[in-house]
Amino acid sequence: MKFFRSIRWRLQLWYGVLLLLILAGFGLSAWRLQTTNQMGKVDQELEQRMGIVSDMIRARNGPPPNHPPAGGPPGANRPPPSDWKLPERKAGLFENIPGRTYYYIVWHRNGEEIVRSTFAPPDVPQPERLHGPPEFRTRGTLRECYHDTPSGECLLVGRDIGEEQAGAAHFAWLLAGVGIAVLVLGLAGGGWVAARALRPISDISEAAERISAGDLSQRVRTADTDSELGQLARVLNDTFARLQGAFARQSQFTADASHELRTPISVVLTQTQSTLVRERPASEYKECLEACQRAAQRMRAILENLLMLARLDSAKAPEETGVCDLSLIAKETMEILETMAGEHNVRMESSLSPAYCRGNAGQLAQAVQNLASNAIHYNHPGGSIHITVENEPGTAVLSVSDTGPGISSTDLPHIFERFYRVDKARSGAQGHSGLGLAIARAIVEHHGGTITVGSEPGKGSTFQIRLPEAPAPIKTGDPA
Ligand code: ADP
Repeated sequence: MKFFRSIRWRLQLWYGVLLLLILAGFGLSAWRLQTTNQMGKVDQELEQRMGIVSDMIRARNGPPPNHPPAGGPPGANRPPPSDWKLPERKAGLFENIPGRTYYYIVWHRNGEEIVRSTFAPPDVPQPERLHGPPEFRTRGTLRECYHDTPSGECLLVGRDIGEEQAGAAHFAWLLAGVGIAVLVLGLAGGGWVAARALRPISDISEAAERISAGDLSQRVRTADTDSELGQLARVLNDTFARLQGAFARQSQFTADASHELRTPISVVLTQTQSTLVRERPASEYKECLEACQRAAQRMRAILENLLMLARLDSAKAPEETGVCDLSLIAKETMEILETMAGEHNVRMESSLSPAYCRGNAGQLAQAVQNLASNAIHYNHPGGSIHITVENEPGTAVLSVSDTGPGISSTDLPHIFERFYRVDKARSGAQGHSGLGLAIARAIVEHHGGTITVGSEPGKGSTFQIRLPEAPAPIKTGDPA
């Protein structure tokens, strides 16, 4: 049932049951205390009168049974029943007062009734014989105290407690009434508090519903920021903001990727369409095919980069790792880029000390190559690049500095973003798709390192890769 699945109603139910138990316990205790007190008073008065009747018996019976008078059993000289009388001033204690008439009855040890007060009820059964202190019993609306005298008579004093019983019943109803009122108020208050406390949850679920319906800009209202639910709402809002950012980046990435691929595809289509309009000499077909080949190569380069990024995004740790020497990677990179540097008339310099890190050598070489090729590409003819590899405590550091134009402070925070290019028109035309630095950063971060850039327009740029240092491998033949 939906009712029982709701946290609010479950709380309300538990709270109600608890409150009911507390009120019932409290009410019962109060009622018991009140009735015990009242009955205690009644019993006290009964015992008092029991004493008076005992005195009367003792006075009439003569000496106690352990000093029997000569010439007969105890009580043998007992006066006739009509002579059993209470002293004048005590007789008023057994008068007929509506609601609190006291009575007494005395039985002989053989069960024969000796005397009874004027207002004693007719059908009072003689109690069981008793050899201890006085006992009490309640019969209907009558409370009675009974006791056996040392000389063997059974003595009973009683009273109508109808009024006390009615009072106790009235008190019980009063307690029940107050208890119900407190319960209703408590439940209403508890319901209000629960509704207030749980309101942020419904806010959260409403916001989550709106978000799941596609509106990622929705947020949970966080007015009550200090409570646990307020904190939860803040965490969720942060998560939603990150999700929104991730989705935005994802769609931007897809749009950029499609855009990048559209250019070479358009080249292929236009080239082939215009060439196929009519018969052409073989040289023109060759030109067309060469243009298509360049476009295909460009597409392949973009797709390879995208594939690499996708692999880096999905993999948790680099595959095929080993201890790599960054100075060796830098040296090989310089060898690969020698031709390119010559074409751009850029000089390559280096200061390389062995610096070891753990990782995938191929991927790290790719990252270094992206930095170094950028340093050559975005440089002035006659300029230079400088690659440094060194060790800092616990860190292997590789830096690539150039004497290029530098990067403006507006572009600097974005250059590691996917498909970001400072000069879109020119670099796009030259086959630069804006993925080089994004890939370099993804590789370095994948290896637990960081990549940073420092640049000032007109003063060149320095890119730095910092990776956790690994112990140098033990070369075979090294002295142990
Ligand atoms: P691209 O493939 O277009 O070079 P990158 O991700 O490698 O993409 O670089 C992003 C942008 O950062 C480039 O468009 C370029 O303007 C700028 N950039 C990268 N390296 C340098 C550098 N060494 N000097 C100046 N600008 C650079």
